[in-house]
Amino acid sequence: MGKINEDLVRQIINNVVSEYQGKAVKEVQPETPVIKTVTCPVNEQDVEILVEASARHVHLTEEDIETLFGKGYKLTPVKKLTQVGQFACKERVTLIGPKNIYRNVAILGPARKETQVELSMTDARFLGVKAPVRMSGDLRDAADIIIATDNEAITAKGSAIVAQNHIHMTPAQAGQWGFTDGEEVSVKMSTERPLTFDGVVVRVSETAGLAMHIDFDEANACLFKDGDMGLIKRSRCGSQAKVQLPKMKEEQKPIEMAISINKRFVTEEDIKKALRNVNYSGITLPKNVILSAPAKDYINKEKINITFI
Ligand SMILES: [Zn+2]
Repeated sequence: MGKINEDLVRQIINNVVSEYQGKAVKEVQPETPVIKTVTCPVNEQDVEILVEASARHVHLTEEDIETLFGKGYKLTPVKKLTQVGQFACKERVTLIGPKNIYRNVAILGPARKETQVELSMTDARFLGVKAPVRMSGDLRDAADIIIATDNEAITAKGSAIVAQNHIHMTPAQAGQWGFTDGEEVSVKMSTERPLTFDGVVVRVSETAGLAMHIDFDEANACLFKDGDMGLIKRSRCGSQAKVQLPKMKEEQKPIEMAISINKRFVTEEDIKKALRNVNYSGITLPKNVILSAPAKDYINKEKINITFI
């Protein structure tokens, strides 16, 4: 084995190391924005709430009820729901999609202004329809689906949605806990397989019964059982919301400087004036300066670093 040129090797190593170091220095100074962590005020308490899982169901207009069940037909309530005035009906319908059908689907009364079919995402895939996630009543881009009884069938155009999870509460409850209509909150499920739903919408109305509504996909995801509760945490507090602040430009950085006041008698006002609009490290004063009593107090209170020269 021939003798290696140690100087050459050392030079190569130096080059590689310095290149690497140059790179490394670049990498440790990324253009990261300043992240400020906002923590939840301690006095904001979590609110425990009853959770209800909704199976697939339909809401029908008077007109569609008459088409499906006959002229002048009135739905038969069999069970009151937590929302005041709402009920489950004895009557059932069949949902027919391009791929599959579901029989024995519940109807919730009373009649509504628009026919609405609420599915889970699994239901929608099974039926073969593209149902968007929407708040109840918002039927933008909702899917078409066929609703049938033994004798009749209608095409409910733009009616099928996957219901956005939400919480019902009255204005009094919203006021008591500091929630507003439409606010998004996080809810931690107290279930066998706990998980937290973010972006849960608060709906405030006089007829609300305090409850959170989730669909069966969400219920199954957390192994929900009847009677399980959820804990409402405001979104901004749920997981320590992070506020991104714009990065301060180099030239905007305040420069720390010592301020000197060349006066024999210095008042509180003199000090405040000198420190206005600057980021100071301390103040230098003449050795024989006379400080007014308020000036002394101000210096002590603000813990201003004083040097006598
Ligand atoms: Zn609801």
